Amino acid sequence: VNRWRVLSEAELIQRYFMSAPRRADVVLGIGDDGAIVRLEAGHDIVVSVDTLIEGVHFPHATPPGAIGHKALAVNLSDLAAMGAEPAWATLALTLPDVDENWLAAFSAGLFGLADRYRVELIGGDLTRGPLSITIQIMGFVPRGESLRRDGARAGDLIFVTGTIGDAGLGLAAVRKTRVLNAASLEWCLARLNTPSPRVDAGLRLRTVASAAIDVSDGLARDLDRILSASGVGAALDLRSIPLSAAARDVYAGQVEWPAVVSVGDDYELLFTVPPVRAGELTILFAGAHCEITRIGVVEPTVGLRYTLGGVAWPLSVSTGYDHFASP
Ligand SMILES: [Mg+2]
Repeated sequence: VNRWRVLSEAELIQRYFMSAPRRADVVLGIGDDGAIVRLEAGHDIVVSVDTLIEGVHFPHATPPGAIGHKALAVNLSDLAAMGAEPAWATLALTLPDVDENWLAAFSAGLFGLADRYRVELIGGDLTRGPLSITIQIMGFVPRGESLRRDGARAGDLIFVTGTIGDAGLGLAAVRKTRVLNAASLEWCLARLNTPSPRVDAGLRLRTVASAAIDVSDGLARDLDRILSASGVGAALDLRSIPLSAAARDVYAGQVEWPAVVSVGDDYELLFTVPPVRAGELTILFAGAHCEITRIGVVEPTVGLRYTLGGVAWPLSVSTGYDHFASP
């Protein structure tokens, strides 16, 4: 049954994407030609947008609840990397057909995460076409306090939150290029499909990090973006890169470093801290339930070099990832 003729766009939005008002700073939410939000004095707005396309950003078999979760999570991760507190989001959803079971599950995944971070959906647009989800997220920071990519300086220490490479292992399992045992598979698929954005870590880092980015396209590529923006280089110690128990189990002592540094979708934060401030991290992250690990140091000479336990390690990893250039 073609429900597009049965339910109008407005009715679908009303049914699946309206939630009770949850923020006092939303003057007018969904329902008019535009939304109105009110920014507290002395703050900057941080805006980010991301599109997820089926088969490109998530595998075809991904459950709709996970798609809803991930679509918001990748945007929250960008705000986390800016040190911003998330507040408002808009959604542009393109669907091949109206499947109300799909919409209900997608919406539950999306709002489950939105509730956790008190994000209010303030606008929506539904179109018919190949499945694609675009979310624009807006948040705020005290004026001038956002984290950026261009502040790393030679001598700064490089840290990462959580563990690296799990989502890539999950994707390899989905693509059947790697076989994982049940426990590792469960962990890595959860990391791939329902990532937990590091919003809280981003807020804690605001006062101490010199530069930050979220690891969405691979540790090497995202670190390279900080280095390029800051006009510096770095030494990255492979053995310091934090791996989950699941990943260690998969690699069984033979860690494939090119894979670890190049796979994407981890949505951890990668950040630099001046050495004199690094001691503050312990206090800043007390009770944060977020591991942080030092993985390298910023150097004055441009370029990214790898070491393994202090010894130079030749590793050739492309950092020029481009959606339009990849096969
Ligand atoms: Mg990002």
